[in-house]
Amino acid sequence: MSYTEDYKVLKKIFSSIDDKLSYGSIDIYKKEFDSLAYKLLPGVTKYHCEKHDIEFSSGESYQDDKVGAKDIDFNKEDTEIEENKHFNYFIVMPSGLKKASKLTFLFHGFNEKDWSKYLPWAKSICDTCGHAVILFPIAFHMDRAPKLWSDKRAMFKESIDRKKRYPNIVNSTLSNVAISMRLQEKPQRFMWSGLQSYYDVIDLIELFKKGKVDLIDPNFKFNLFAYSIGGFLAQILKYSNYKNYFSNSKLCLICSGAVFNRLSPVTKFILDSETNISLYYYLVEHIDVFMKKDNMMRHFINEHKEAKLLYEMMNFTRLREDRESYNLKYAKQIYAVTFKKDHVIPSYEIRNALQGAYRNIPINVEEFDFPYEYGHEVPFPYDSKDSDLVDKAYSLVFDKICKFLTIEE
Ligand SMILES: [Zn+2]
Repeated sequence: MSYTEDYKVLKKIFSSIDDKLSYGSIDIYKKEFDSLAYKLLPGVTKYHCEKHDIEFSSGESYQDDKVGAKDIDFNKEDTEIEENKHFNYFIVMPSGLKKASKLTFLFHGFNEKDWSKYLPWAKSICDTCGHAVILFPIAFHMDRAPKLWSDKRAMFKESIDRKKRYPNIVNSTLSNVAISMRLQEKPQRFMWSGLQSYYDVIDLIELFKKGKVDLIDPNFKFNLFAYSIGGFLAQILKYSNYKNYFSNSKLCLICSGAVFNRLSPVTKFILDSETNISLYYYLVEHIDVFMKKDNMMRHFINEHKEAKLLYEMMNFTRLREDRESYNLKYAKQIYAVTFKKDHVIPSYEIRNALQGAYRNIPINVEEFDFPYEYGHEVPFPYDSKDSDLVDKAYSLVFDKICKFLTIEE
């Protein structure tokens, strides 16, 4: 089966997955996960850092009350959103394999609501590397977001209201209005939900290591594969190297690797322009001012390596040498695939970040270009009139990715 055929069939059968489904050379298992790290999120009045045994009161350092949703409770506190606490992840296994000892964690992009795009990717890694692929959702994405946020009628109405409120807004759509409104209201959500995702993955790895997930051999080895904004999560995991778990893990990035203020995320599918301004204001320009008022944010960025890494990745010039020291340290274990016509995360910004301002970091950043229409969100279109070319391009890129990801005996 070609990539395009695999995509179409997998998308269809995955939408009705129960506990398990089989397709050709792969089995896909649905697994449940309970997040403990949701306790970090905005929404309560008391917080506790277990590592340092410190208490914090609610440190709401930033709130934009003008964003307002009329009919829908977008402003539900993060800690109250049950979907984000109890949710499913998926394990894509080579067909018939009962226990996997080699894994690839796959992290998705921003504002993604279903896994379809990634299913053929996971299948390719399974088929070529023989790895199990772990599809683990980032906080408030995929099934971790309330269904309402992808309700077309309700979101269309919100987007109309939003355009009235902000007449000059660019790219407000029913697809991005929920995430845009929430992040504009509290841009610090980007930091806390990023950290929740980080701690969730660490907790998942601990579960695997304790033998609590029957499909995973507790002595597993693993690599990381991340698309777009999932690359922040993967880089933070790799670089913070919790308990040295990640020392031997390779990291493959696709359409990813640039720092936050070098992205152009204002598109119909990602963010609208008003939210981009808020994120820029908070994360890129003035987070240091807000840290002075927000004891918990300050504590995490100053005392937790993972939070400091995320903070460094928001602005190209912020602690650039520290950020580049990690890229240099792990250069041989990183491979980045970029696309010439990716205008959201341009190739040259990926090079700027990964190879460093002075191009002295030997990370392999490989740029591809294809003779068909494509873009950041969909590098391998599913309904192209040039599906043969797409299939060929996909094979070329994924042969390289899989070769890099394969864990040798
Ligand atoms: Zn702490």
